[in-house]
Amino acid sequence: MRGRILVTGGAGYIGSHTTQQLLDAGYAVVVLDNLSNGVRGMIPGEATFIQGDVGDRALLADVLADGVEAVLHFAGSIVVPESVAQPLAYYRNNTLNTHGLLEACVEAGVPHFIFSSTAAVYGDARQVPVREDAATVPISPYGASKLMTEWMLRDAAAAHELRYVALRYFNVAGADPLGRRGQSSKNATHLIKLAVEVLTGQRDHLDIFGDDYPTPDGTGVRDYIHVVDLADAHVRALDYLRAGGDSQVLNCGYGKGSSVRQVIAALERVSNRKIDARAAPRRAGDVAELVAEASRIRRLFGWQPRHEDLEMIVRTALDWERKRLGQG
Ligand code: UDP
Repeated sequence: MRGRILVTGGAGYIGSHTTQQLLDAGYAVVVLDNLSNGVRGMIPGEATFIQGDVGDRALLADVLADGVEAVLHFAGSIVVPESVAQPLAYYRNNTLNTHGLLEACVEAGVPHFIFSSTAAVYGDARQVPVREDAATVPISPYGASKLMTEWMLRDAAAAHELRYVALRYFNVAGADPLGRRGQSSKNATHLIKLAVEVLTGQRDHLDIFGDDYPTPDGTGVRDYIHVVDLADAHVRALDYLRAGGDSQVLNCGYGKGSSVRQVIAALERVSNRKIDARAAPRRAGDVAELVAEASRIRRLFGWQPRHEDLEMIVRTALDWERKRLGQG
């Protein structure tokens, strides 16, 4: 058995997939989740589950006192438009709670920290693919709340015995190919989730938010990455830190862009059905194109994505939605 790992937000989409892979790799995992958005049933049975809030300092001190080797911190609020409407709630949930968690880690002597950051820290990137050293100019409170955490990590790591990896996620999608878990959040705003809701009869059409962007087909281009590959990047980040690696801030994407129309076409191919997709005005806060320059993480961790194919991504997302609804 390897060390004990605390996973905050382990009942959520990315946290639960990562918990599974940590267990598969032989780690003992404690999941802390308040189930505000996470789903109890997505936590693998072998993990120890504590229902509680990351903002609960007494609880954190308790959990960390047991000798935790690393914290993987997924818990947080993630809906960009909501962050615009409720910025202070986002700074509390994402920035303040992480501050408390970091203080608790330093007090308890936790040596390693892995943080879910986001490509939203770049804002409207001047150059695509975007490198890790590009300017960070977030255009939403969500992106700002995550960037502030990156700064806290940088400074805390310089002052204390703590090393960290912050992974800047691009567009995470897909689901466990074995059908054990997938995207289950209520009120999701993500393209692939909404498109599979159309295919499963939960909404009648999909809006294409802008078809006049300066991109090849006029629709927004993103770097979609399969959640299983992303979970694998976390396990590798942990191995890297345990082997003595320096702190890192790394893009987590494939370096390949797909447009909204390409995503829709891939879903139509795998489902053999048409999606009623209608051109609509641009969505506030969206950028034309966001694609990772993704060579650093491959080089440092030896990370080799296995689910890079867009059809694989959308097929697993659709299969999960059907299963969730009992249509599978
Ligand atoms: N998008 C769309 N219709 C939708 C949801 C999203 O056209 O119903 C577009 C959005 O404008 C962007 C891309 O799909 O170009 C990815 O958006 P998503 O919300 O999935 O992720 P984001 O890149 O905003 O984090």
